[in-house]
Amino acid sequence: MARGAELLLALIFSLALPALAAPPEAERIRDEEIAVCRDGDLATWPDGRDQTAPLRPPRFAYKSLGAPVEMGETLVTQLLQQALRAWSGCGIGGELLPWQPGIEERRDVVVVLWSEAESRGNFGLANLTQRRLALSPATFRLLRERNPKHDYRQTMQMALSHEMGHFYGLMAHSRRCIDVTSYYHDGRGDQGEQCRTRNPAGRKAFVEYRHVLPTACDIRRCRIANGIDP
Ligand SMILES: [Zn+2]
Repeated sequence: MARGAELLLALIFSLALPALAAPPEAERIRDEEIAVCRDGDLATWPDGRDQTAPLRPPRFAYKSLGAPVEMGETLVTQLLQQALRAWSGCGIGGELLPWQPGIEERRDVVVVLWSEAESRGNFGLANLTQRRLALSPATFRLLRERNPKHDYRQTMQMALSHEMGHFYGLMAHSRRCIDVTSYYHDGRGDQGEQCRTRNPAGRKAFVEYRHVLPTACDIRRCRIANGIDP
């Protein structure tokens, strides 16, 4: 039973190369994949099973200690609120509580924190058993060194939205490239399988094809996982 065991979900992003402008048609298809979830669109990798959210409503509290300088508390709070607003389409609520001493002890709150040890070199990592969403200062630093022109706020938004999704009960990773809960491939290199999009060739025009907030299909899957009429 996944909920009883230690459960660590890693999110690995490619350390992005500078983006070229995508053709308008590719942008249009991508926008539509974000906004529309058709019957038969849902597809996941066989790496987990969706379940009801372990905490309903999912509650988060942000601990800013150890944050990289560019990740000010106001910014991170805004990004968390945006992710929560988007996940609210799931229909189980969700809120951000102000940080206060002792809140880490609460069993109904997920602590969002900066920790190299707990994030293990991933941008973000969700630990459902310990109710912790860990972020890696070093990995965000590396992103800025490798690609200073890349908007690190977008990567942060994506990491928070993705890891939050695990706390909303989405345990499998999506096979739709666009979904914020996606993995792009199965990790088996050239022989392996790739995520799905209606525009596989056009995908290459984007540094990150994945959306930074939950898509219509992320929300639909969340509603199904939580027994709410999709
Ligand atoms: Zn994940």
